[in-house]
Amino acid sequence: MCYHNVAKVELHCHLDGILNPSILKEILLKRNTSLKIEELESAYPVLCFDDFINWFNKTNPHFKSLPDYKPIINHHVQNLRTQNVIYAELMIPSGSLPLDKEKMLECVQEFREYTTAMENGKVQIEYIVAFGRNKTPQHVEERGDRILKLYDSHLICGVAVAGLEQGNPIKPFRKTFERFKEAGIGIEIHAGEWCGPESVHDALENGFPDRIGHGVSLFKNPNLIEIIREKQIHIEICPTSNLKTGSVDDIKNHPIKQAFNLGINFSINTDDPGTFECTMESEFKLLHDTFGFGEQEFEKIKENSLKSRFQKQLRYS
Ligand SMILES: [Zn+2]
Repeated sequence: MCYHNVAKVELHCHLDGILNPSILKEILLKRNTSLKIEELESAYPVLCFDDFINWFNKTNPHFKSLPDYKPIINHHVQNLRTQNVIYAELMIPSGSLPLDKEKMLECVQEFREYTTAMENGKVQIEYIVAFGRNKTPQHVEERGDRILKLYDSHLICGVAVAGLEQGNPIKPFRKTFERFKEAGIGIEIHAGEWCGPESVHDALENGFPDRIGHGVSLFKNPNLIEIIREKQIHIEICPTSNLKTGSVDDIKNHPIKQAFNLGINFSINTDDPGTFECTMESEFKLLHDTFGFGEQEFEKIKENSLKSRFQKQLRYS
């Protein structure tokens, strides 16, 4: 089985989870950063949830604004091209955007142009803005204004909500999500990653998502599976991430095969390839080795991922 030649689509990857020691070494050849190689290397391996938080706490303070991610995205787009990824959506952390609306538009426009120039007619890169669950409704409402401004300006195609589920439901943000829904922006909510099916219920009831990130625990609830199937909600599955943060105890117990057999619309993603030391190719190999997935399954996954992308216009086909 050649995982390299299989055309791939990635819908769930965070800009702030791509950095790894080899990218940092490349960056250091050109300029100084406040993050040292030894400090980043000491955050590996990431083997549990606490390690995952430790990795973010070590890297995040050094990459504060969107232009800081340029050398990282440069490396990443090349990497996607060599893995035969044909379309990818990337999540920009909302905290990396300038507060002033005009400056924010200019900044994202410039970042997009920088990225598009690297696509080389091979991989289309689109952006989503992601914010954390641990915010106040007022904060989310204000972020919502800015996210919709970016969407109206055709600079992003979606909005995502990530972060700790425990004690941070979507319900208090319902008003903002009603605005998102009305505007037609793609909506993704990370849910059912660390909490049970009730968290997926909360996301579906109050956030009107087109896509659920992870959704591991929804497979424990037949009623929820039916709703997901009926509404054709897409599930962004991130196998290695789920294993490394403890959402599943063993990859063999991951509900991927169940999802495929049930005809659920899902994609395969790295989530944070730098943090979890994985690639799209390694994820596909993992599915082959663990569940016996082959050409037929990968073709179906590609079809579903493309169907569920937030940017409807394809630049290369
Ligand atoms: Zn994620």
